[in-house]
Amino acid sequence: MIYLDNAATTKPSESAFARATAFAMDKYYNPSALYAEGYALQGELKKARSALLCKIADEASFELVFTSCGTEADNHAIFSFAKRGNAVTTAGEHSAVLSAFAELKNRGIAEPRIAPLEKDGRVNVEKLLALVDEKTTFVSVMQVNNEVGAINDINKIAKLVKAKNPRVIFHSDGVQGYGKIPFRLAKEVDLYSVSAHKIGGLKGVGALIKRKSLVLPPYIIGGGQESGRRSGTENVFGIKQFEYATEEKFSTIREDFERIRAYRELLWSLLDKEIFTRLSGEDGTPYILSVSALGLRGETLLHMANDKGLIIGTGSACSSNAKRRYSKVVLACGYDEKTADGVLRLSFSHKTTEEEVKRSAEILNEVGQDLRRRMK
Ligand code: PLP
Repeated sequence: MIYLDNAATTKPSESAFARATAFAMDKYYNPSALYAEGYALQGELKKARSALLCKIADEASFELVFTSCGTEADNHAIFSFAKRGNAVTTAGEHSAVLSAFAELKNRGIAEPRIAPLEKDGRVNVEKLLALVDEKTTFVSVMQVNNEVGAINDINKIAKLVKAKNPRVIFHSDGVQGYGKIPFRLAKEVDLYSVSAHKIGGLKGVGALIKRKSLVLPPYIIGGGQESGRRSGTENVFGIKQFEYATEEKFSTIREDFERIRAYRELLWSLLDKEIFTRLSGEDGTPYILSVSALGLRGETLLHMANDKGLIIGTGSACSSNAKRRYSKVVLACGYDEKTADGVLRLSFSHKTTEEEVKRSAEILNEVGQDLRRRMK
């Protein structure tokens, strides 16, 4: 089986898993306990925090709160800092952000404002800035779009937003960027969400990175873990596995970036252009190639490819809601429903091989041609 749905989730790193298993079987104590074995785990969590943080941020200015997933990190940021007035985000966001913004309106907390996208899926920065005014309390712009792979220059956007209103709290959903796009956080970015399972970590572990001077209110109240900001006995196994997977992923981040970009271009060069149209821009993340098979249903192609041993995503991945037939993000890029209906998302991990890429192209061409013949 060839797996090209890595933007949805990646296979856990086996070595990180083995190391974390050995760790957790030996050090299974409660990190909040007063006895030495428990207390020592606080040091281990501190090590993990530092290992994750130092890869992208200055530890003197930023700190990290562990969460149960990227969605929780996004929700924690939004519901902590979007206040009376308005809050601005983009039409390209994951539902973890967009649904939370809708909830801001439902709860009468803030007026959500949604900035439109460019054709390649990046936010239209000029239009985003036009939505920011003196009543804006919070702005959220994702780093890498999970459907088409467009990259927003969040450091630059954060600076522009703060130049317009310095009181704004700026958040970025970095779930598809962390460990894949070489970069460092600028001081203008106040909050940044990450998720373990996109880079060889386990599902159910994430983190919210925050500027140290920003006071983050608690999201889950109880035993006071995570300095009182996120109570609940820490997922020591998941956190250590995330730490080890992160060390592994960042050790080759630049080589992976170049190699996977070459694979993305190889895959595109091998696809039948009579059938597939490319949606992902060349400047987007190397890890996602989004294409559309015009006049064909992406979902049907997904099942046909699955039968031939290839796992891929469609435009509306992450949503099992049948009503959501068309990807809102693809429509927001300006494509019509026919294009949105045929979307396939092909997403790589640093473990993807050239042979897998070549075989995937063959399978996609076969199923595309087959379905087209049947539709005639
Ligand atoms: N944000 C983006 C951009 C994502 O792609 C995802 C997952 O697909 C999430 C947030 C949610 O992350 P998690 O699955 O850890 O809740």
